[in-house]
Amino acid sequence: MTSTASRPATGARTPLPLDVEAIRADFPILSRTVRDGKRLVYLDSGATSQKPRQVLDAERWFYENVNAAPHRGAHQLAEEATGAYEEARAKVGAFIGAPENEVVFTRNTTEAINLVAYALSNAATAKEPEFRTHAVGQGDEIVVTEMEHHANLIPWQQLCERTGATLRWLGLTDDGRLDLSDLATVVNERTRLVAVTQQSNILGTINPIEQIVARAREVGALVLVDGAQSVPHQPIDVAALGADFLVFSGHKMLGPTGVGVLWGRYEVLDALPPFLTGGSMIEVVRMEGSTFMPPPQRFEAGVPMTAQVVGLGAAVEYLTALGMDKVEEHERALTGYALGKLAEIPGVTVIGPPDTVARGGAVSFTVEGVHPHDVGQVLDDLGIAVRVGHHCAWPVVRRYGVPATTRATFYVHTGYDDVDALADGIRAAQKFFGTV
Ligand code: PLP
Repeated sequence: MTSTASRPATGARTPLPLDVEAIRADFPILSRTVRDGKRLVYLDSGATSQKPRQVLDAERWFYENVNAAPHRGAHQLAEEATGAYEEARAKVGAFIGAPENEVVFTRNTTEAINLVAYALSNAATAKEPEFRTHAVGQGDEIVVTEMEHHANLIPWQQLCERTGATLRWLGLTDDGRLDLSDLATVVNERTRLVAVTQQSNILGTINPIEQIVARAREVGALVLVDGAQSVPHQPIDVAALGADFLVFSGHKMLGPTGVGVLWGRYEVLDALPPFLTGGSMIEVVRMEGSTFMPPPQRFEAGVPMTAQVVGLGAAVEYLTALGMDKVEEHERALTGYALGKLAEIPGVTVIGPPDTVARGGAVSFTVEGVHPHDVGQVLDDLGIAVRVGHHCAWPVVRRYGVPATTRATFYVHTGYDDVDALADGIRAAQKFFGTV
């Protein structure tokens, strides 16, 4: 959770808790240049993070020394692959305060959310009575918010279409926060699940998960927290979070692509039928039918992305060594500085909370008279990588009446020099397009 204890004033250049130069030396890609010899200013970690050498080495170590399919085979390599895979599960569990049997590896956040959504509709037709506990059907309601990434919206729309349930949502305030004034009516006795992002990928807003969990508990609804933009950036303890599911992606937290995580409260996971079926998730198979393993294996059909899981284990070790409280503080200082710098530029409007209170380091903005794609183009010419568009959160840009935004996101290697480069680049775009 974001503490409000140390709030840098926006625009202030307070000492950064992380040693940016030492960290940059760990990221081989940051030593390359782009666009005719310009230093790479990577402000797109929210889309995908760069990888430190330690993560790249872990994947290479696995392929060069161990490579085998885990949980199959009796040879030494298979045994070692299983050990490496399960060791990574324990590391990821420890990173979020969870026992390892509650950690399911998926391909990414998107797949983890789809896993839950399909399990809930599969529950309605499961032949095993113990899998029907959380079945969703006609008359039931699923609640999301207007600030969700498409990954935490469309699977729920589709679940409702498959089952006849109804989708409801919490709206947004003008300053980029969740409007919880109707929480008690939107989350009601018909609600089966509330799916909410912990940190908005477009607004940077950090949501009051505890308040939402408290209301969900009053009506017996499950809560899924989308941690794609929070787990990489702040300390997380699933016990304190109080939700039933937490989902996140390895590639946004210094880890490889192709691996994500579904954490689920064990008794809830245990009551869910599988999403994908096939090898490795079964207990007994007969031509007439099959029975399934307990979690987490029930949800990990097929040969898994073992090297990527090992790489994710190295990523959480790297982040743990930095200290997630320091990572959070580092980004808060940069965010405060960036908000201050952008506020000094006439014609720039930040879409999202204007200060660092309950806010992470996704800074979205518009520049009067210059289309976000053109801003991105000028920044790119200067070697600055940002994201432009609707950021897979189309309802959010619609809510704030803009076609798109330009978004800068920060991480452990980001320094004040990167933010200065961004501010100078925006001024260059204004000059180029003649708006100043
Ligand atoms: N949720 C949020 C808040 C995100 O920012 C993203 C990706 O940007 C996702 C979900 C989907 O993540 P992935 O594409 O890794 O599945």
